[in-house]
Amino acid sequence: MPLKLTVIGTGYLGATHAAAMAELGFDVLALDIDPRKIELLSQGRVPMFEPGLEELLARHVAGIEGSSGRLRFTLSWEEVAEFGDVHFVCVNTPQKQGEYACDMSYVDRAFGQLAPLLKRPALVVGKSTVPVGSAARLADLLAELAPAGEEAELAWNPEFLREGFAVEDTLHPDRIVVGVRSERAERTLREVYAGPVAEGTPFVVADYPTAELVKTAANAFLATKISFINAMAEVSEAAGGDVAKLAEAIGYDDRIGHKFLRAGIGFGGGCLPKDIRAFMARAGELGADQALTFLREVDSTNMRRRTQMVDMAREALASAPSGRASGGGFLGRRIAVLGATFKPDSDDVRDSPALNVAGQIQLQGGQVTVYDPKGMDNARAQFPTLGYAASALEAVRGADIVLHLTEWREFRELDPAALAEVARGRVVLDGRNTLDPAVWRKAGWTYRAMGRPNA
Ligand code: NAD
Repeated sequence: MPLKLTVIGTGYLGATHAAAMAELGFDVLALDIDPRKIELLSQGRVPMFEPGLEELLARHVAGIEGSSGRLRFTLSWEEVAEFGDVHFVCVNTPQKQGEYACDMSYVDRAFGQLAPLLKRPALVVGKSTVPVGSAARLADLLAELAPAGEEAELAWNPEFLREGFAVEDTLHPDRIVVGVRSERAERTLREVYAGPVAEGTPFVVADYPTAELVKTAANAFLATKISFINAMAEVSEAAGGDVAKLAEAIGYDDRIGHKFLRAGIGFGGGCLPKDIRAFMARAGELGADQALTFLREVDSTNMRRRTQMVDMAREALASAPSGRASGGGFLGRRIAVLGATFKPDSDDVRDSPALNVAGQIQLQGGQVTVYDPKGMDNARAQFPTLGYAASALEAVRGADIVLHLTEWREFRELDPAALAEVARGRVVLDGRNTLDPAVWRKAGWTYRAMGRPNA
């Protein structure tokens, strides 16, 4: 009998995982505590924006014409417990309010709901990003609460997908990492992932703590790489060098590589910032806090970039002629912000550097108008007092300065000459180093980018 899978939590990770598992041929039942999400997903509609996900849902959600019918959604824990041989837990693990530590309450609640209903053999597979040691604690909880006793087992299988590429990353991952305590658990997960493994995806079997650590270590490394190049950008700015050239040149060394070496306003989102903080907090609890003190620098270098962009904008405005009343700084100035999401090809605005910059400028008296191709609804919900425009052109209309803060392809393809006609000032600051300086300058703009004083 083919395994029956359930997915608990249908956010960016869970909705994608559920659809991808149906694509791999499994019957899948997915649950969320948010009835709105379940209602939308049951109709094949995606509550967020993720490229390719709606098409994948349409191929599998039961009740949609022509679909495989393998994917269903529910609000019922009883149904999930009865249905699943394997339960993937994909709920959120945000930063605790006022602390660096991870808020495990959503995971704990999900286990608290599911475990007492597990009457038959089942493998519960944690996919959420959690502090090392969580799996061992949750295994104890499962043993205590599940009526099936030892027949209900735990595995940890961290997720590495990137928003914007979530479908591709789930169907064709770089690697699959499983933390297990038994051969049976390993065998079950090999069966689940037989498709990608047959295509050559490495399957790494580890113990619980190692599997948990692989995820946080990978995120710590990526965050460090971004902050490293941003630190080089700060030095380049001071020395009059060009960090983009520097990144190109060091990236040819294949021990370094070109990826994640673009200087700018830094990383954000629902993962990297909170994951490195939770990692530091957990290391502290384990008495290994010294090992991760460098992550404090990584975090503060990253956060500093946002303020530096605000400073750069203020300085650029001070030297730009304007007929408007201005008490200095941003007062009386109009600022167009291109981008609201923390990265392109997503609608996710969690801890978005772009919105952070927009918010700082507004708090300093600037009149900010934001445009983003997919993040407008989420941005409005989180920052209702900012101004919003229906297009890049409308955001730029009458603006004294343009800030490019999320690297959407749409912004690279803008016609700077058309924007120059409607803008009031012709200064563009590239916070992502992805616009073409030559094209903007040719259209009459003063172009400046972070870490590239002479670009
Ligand atoms: P999300 O907030 O988009 O989704 C979480 C979902 O879980 C929500 O729909 C929420 O309603 C639901 N939920 C919360 N408590 C629940 C409960 N007790 N029972 C059932 N459902 C519950 O979060 P996300 O971005 O999908 O992240 C989920 C986890 O995956 C986090 O640990 C995150 O760090 C990790 N992760 C995320 C990504 C990513 O790119 N988003 C990548 C890798 C790992």
